[in-house]
Amino acid sequence: MKGVVVKSTGSWYLVRDAEGNLHRSRLRGKFKLKDLKVSNPLAVGDRVEFDVEDTGEDTAVIYKIEDRENYIIRQSTHKSAHAHIIAANLDQALLIVTLVSPRTSFGFIDRFLVTAEAYEIPTVLVFNKTDLYDEDIRNYQRQISQMYGQIGYSSISVSAAENQGMDALLALLHGKTSLLAGHSGVGKSTLINLLVPDLELKTSGISDFSDKGVHTTTFAEMFEVSKDTYIIDTPGIKELGIVDIPPAELSHYFPEMRERLNQCRFHNCTHFNEPGCAVLEAVRRNEISLTRYESYLSMLHGVDNRK
Ligand code: GDP
Ligand code: ZN
Repeated sequence: MKGVVVKSTGSWYLVRDAEGNLHRSRLRGKFKLKDLKVSNPLAVGDRVEFDVEDTGEDTAVIYKIEDRENYIIRQSTHKSAHAHIIAANLDQALLIVTLVSPRTSFGFIDRFLVTAEAYEIPTVLVFNKTDLYDEDIRNYQRQISQMYGQIGYSSISVSAAENQGMDALLALLHGKTSLLAGHSGVGKSTLINLLVPDLELKTSGISDFSDKGVHTTTFAEMFEVSKDTYIIDTPGIKELGIVDIPPAELSHYFPEMRERLNQCRFHNCTHFNEPGCAVLEAVRRNEISLTRYESYLSMLHGVDNRK
C-alpha cells in the first residue's frame, strides 16, 4: 500500500493511506539511510510504501521511501550531531506574523524567507490579529504587504480571534500541503484549531513521549483540513532550520537582489561597499527596501536580528 507519514516519533510512524485510514508503522529491519548526514530516515510528509501485518502493536511495515521533492531540516546544536529532517514534500509555507502583541520583526521574517528560498518553498505571509490593528497599523500593514508583494511574496490578513479572513486562508491552502510557521504568540495554535475543528480528537491517544521515556517536546504533525488539503504543524520550531549560506551567495536568496546580480561590476560582489554595485544603487533609489537591505547586511555579517 501507499501512504504518507503524518506523524513521526523517531521510533514509530503514523501513516495515512489513500482512503484516509491511519496505520501505526515501523521501518523494516535495518533500513539504510540514504542521506547519512541526517539522524532520522523518515519525516512527516514522506511518501512511503508499506505492508499491513497483524502482528504486534505496530501493524504496518514501511519498506520503501519515495524520493523527496523538498524537505526542511533542523541543524543540531551539537556540532558533531546530525541534522534532523522536520518535514518533507511541502507545497508552500505560511508564515504567520503579527504587527502588535507581539510584533514580528523584519529580521525574523526575512531570515525565514531566505531559508524558504534556499529550500525552494514558496512562502505567503499571513497577518494575524488584525482585530487589534488601528488605522495607523492598518496603513503600515498595507505598506509592508505591498513591499513584500513587489518582490513576489503575497500576503493575506486574518483574525483568528474573530474568525475573519478564513475564506481567503482556506483558498490559499486548498489542494496543497502547507507548513504553518510563526514566532510563538502569533496565534498559530488558534488558527490551526479553526482549520482543523476536531484537532483534539485527532491528537488524543498519540503520546508525545518517545519510547525511551524522555519527553522530546512535540513532534511535527500533518492534519487534514479537507480532502487533499493538509497543514503541517511543527510545534516549537519557529524557523526552517539554519541553512549555511556562503556570504557571496546570500543575495541569491533575496529575489530583488537576485535579479540585479549580473549588473554589479564584480561577479563576487557582496553588495556591502563595492564600487559599481547595482544592489547598493537600487537601495539608494528606494527600489530595494531599506529594511530588506538591513536584513541582508545582518545576515551577511552574522548578526542575530531576529528578535
Ligand atoms: P501560538 O503561540 O502562535 O500558537 O499562539 P496562540 O494560538 O497560543 O495565541 C497566542 C495568544 O494570542 C492567545 O492568547 C490567543 O487567544 C491570542 N490570539 C490568537 N489569535 C488572535 C487574533 O486574531 N486576535 C487577537 N486579539 N488575539 C489572538
Ligand atoms: Zn553588488
